[in-house]
Amino acid sequence: MRYDTVIIGGGLAALLCGIELARSGKKAAIVTTGHSTLHFSSGSFGLYNGAEPLKAAEALAPSHPYSKLGEGMEQLAAKATEILNVAGIATVGNAEANHYIMTPTGALRQCWLSIEGMVTSADGKSFDFSDALILSPEGFLDFYTQFIADSFKRAGVTTTQSVFSLPELTIRRNNPTEMRSVTVARALDKEENILALASIITREAKDTQTVIMPAVLGFERTDVLSRLEKITGKQILTVATLPPSVEGIKVERALCKTFERMGGVIFNGHTATHYSMEEGAVATITTSKGVTLAANEFVLASGSFIGGGLQALRSGVAEVLFGADVAAPAVVELTNRDLFESQPFMSVGIEVDEQFKVLIAGKSVENLYGCGAVLSGYNPVKEGCGAGVAMLTALKVAENIINR
Ligand SMILES: Cc1cc2nc3c(=O)[nH]c(=O)nc-3n(C[C@H](O)[C@H](O)[C@H](O)COP(=O)(O)OP(=O)(O)OC[C@H]3O[C@@H](n4cnc5c(N)ncnc54)[C@H](O)[C@@H]3O)c2cc1C
Repeated sequence: MRYDTVIIGGGLAALLCGIELARSGKKAAIVTTGHSTLHFSSGSFGLYNGAEPLKAAEALAPSHPYSKLGEGMEQLAAKATEILNVAGIATVGNAEANHYIMTPTGALRQCWLSIEGMVTSADGKSFDFSDALILSPEGFLDFYTQFIADSFKRAGVTTTQSVFSLPELTIRRNNPTEMRSVTVARALDKEENILALASIITREAKDTQTVIMPAVLGFERTDVLSRLEKITGKQILTVATLPPSVEGIKVERALCKTFERMGGVIFNGHTATHYSMEEGAVATITTSKGVTLAANEFVLASGSFIGGGLQALRSGVAEVLFGADVAAPAVVELTNRDLFESQPFMSVGIEVDEQFKVLIAGKSVENLYGCGAVLSGYNPVKEGCGAGVAMLTALKVAENIINR
């Protein structure tokens, strides 16, 4: 099978790159092992920490992926937002100024974009409501209501707490491993459960106008929150749960559908295991299911350690598929014993040139590009830029391929 471009990966980077290529008319294919780190996402997208992320990114070292974007960081951020919106993911926020999102532990964290309907704060200190009901499924262990109540208290918001049960969830509650976010969300895809929950909200919230719930409102359906708001007349906001993240999974699925709608092909459950080269360029890749794909360009968007793109060996860190050159920070230890300190291993990744072409044995491969978490030179946790680097480098790679 032959394509214009074959992308290895299935996360934010691969999908954004694929969508941009497909909508420019390229015949694109994505080869993916499966679940990406979106399954851990808190429903927010970080561009860079600081009040003004675009300004903060201006002072970065030349080795940082953002420094290779040239002048166009603002436009790429706008394009990334537009693609999320085209995929049906309504977002709040902009690249000029970060806002704050509430994390599963109740902390308020800076972010660039958050999914509409989640608990956010413009200044990280206050909310535009003064009281709220925190309502969660009975026996659900991945949502810490007390932490969330404490966080609201610090911001001057009075809360009450309550739990709800539905017959379908009562059965699941007997087994804590089944009482997870995806199970609850699947139950809330059913109209009878939405109506039952709406009655519970009306009864429990009484005069309180704002209801805070874990982000488990629908798995297949995207209208559960708006349906509940319409029936109850209340403002309903959600906070991300511990993984798996229903919102993150919904983003992944929406982007996959958009890519396919634009003519892209996804080889799901296929791990790229081999490749062939001709005259210094990648000619084909072969997957774990024996499928060989030829293309003019290849994009490596296979993620970091957790995604499967990088592997830690006794001899050092390796890029798994191509054995691409790996850059590590100049430190003695790649880990810091203080868990809350910056972890140097997070900046390890592959080396790319100014056009994001992957380096193998010190040479740029003419038709192999790298983007997303597989790249070196940045620390997604310390800098709060994981999603931003994934999306912006993916769009830059797409631009470079389109202009090739
Ligand atoms: C726990 C956790 C929470 C996070 N939360 C946030 C957050 O709230 N906000 C934020 O901005 N960022 C967050 N990030 C960071 C951000 O999610 C990632 O940096 C970004 O999504 C990376 O996207 P990616 O596509 O580059 O890689 P990944 O999401 O890792 O995807 C890599 C993909 O490649 C596939 N793959 C790997 N090797 C192969 C192969 N050989 N063949 C085929 N497929 C392959 C994998 O199956 C996977 O689908 C979080 C990261 C983690 C780990």
